[in-house]
Amino acid sequence: LVSRNKQKEDTVVHIGDVAVGGSKPLMIAGPCSVESYKQVRLVAKAIKDTGISVMRGGAFKPRTSPYDFQGLGIEGLKILKEVAGEFGLKTISEIVDPRHIELASEYIDVIQIGARNMQNFELLKAAGEVRTPILLKRGLAATIDEFLHAAEYIVSRGNTQVMLIERGIRTYEKATRNTLDISAVPILKQESHLPVLVDVTHSTGRKDILVPCAKAALAAGADGIMVEVHPDPATALSDAAQQLNIDEFNRFYSGVKESGLL
Ligand code: PEP
Ligand code: MN
Repeated sequence: LVSRNKQKEDTVVHIGDVAVGGSKPLMIAGPCSVESYKQVRLVAKAIKDTGISVMRGGAFKPRTSPYDFQGLGIEGLKILKEVAGEFGLKTISEIVDPRHIELASEYIDVIQIGARNMQNFELLKAAGEVRTPILLKRGLAATIDEFLHAAEYIVSRGNTQVMLIERGIRTYEKATRNTLDISAVPILKQESHLPVLVDVTHSTGRKDILVPCAKAALAAGADGIMVEVHPDPATALSDAAQQLNIDEFNRFYSGVKESGLL
């Protein structure tokens, strides 16, 4: 069902009045984790000022260590909803438990399925049962074929509103946190009609190369970019090293805009 052979025209995913796929690329920005109302509000204001309409923020954080901050859970989703309402933004947040999939739509506009859960088949099936748009991240070491089959789990249950996002894969290379597989963009666009986005933050883990990587993604045909922004990255409870502060974000945004690709 996700194959280009099945459907020639691009799928357009509707996040309220925001359309993704087949038209103007989308920029998604926001903190790695929802930490407080104040923190989310500062980011929301900054991104709203640039004209961005979709904000991300993790409430359920799948962390490598069980001793690291695990997220605010439902409380975090409530913060997102409150701030988004105030600024007229759409929201994206990761859900990790199939039992939360239905409930999520009360708080957020897009459900993210994280890299670590790309092959959590019960979660994928649950995501297929609702009609909330899904942002499916590529697994840490998933092939393109496995990625597309994960999307197929969702679409085959009736939820056609699926976006794919390349977020870097694990290789031997240590210069970046993950290896941004830029070739995945044109391949996914060729093989599938679903929108394809690129998470420049998690794929590189480096703030200094975000602009060229975002430009490369857009030049390769990506339907959108995701980037992490925090009002004070040094104090962030997750991904402190890779999040942009608000000034850096503004520079990043105008740097990408300058290319004319966004
Ligand atoms: C995230 O986007 O918040 C995240 C945890 O990323 P990933 O699942 O790609 O590691
Ligand atoms: Mn993060």
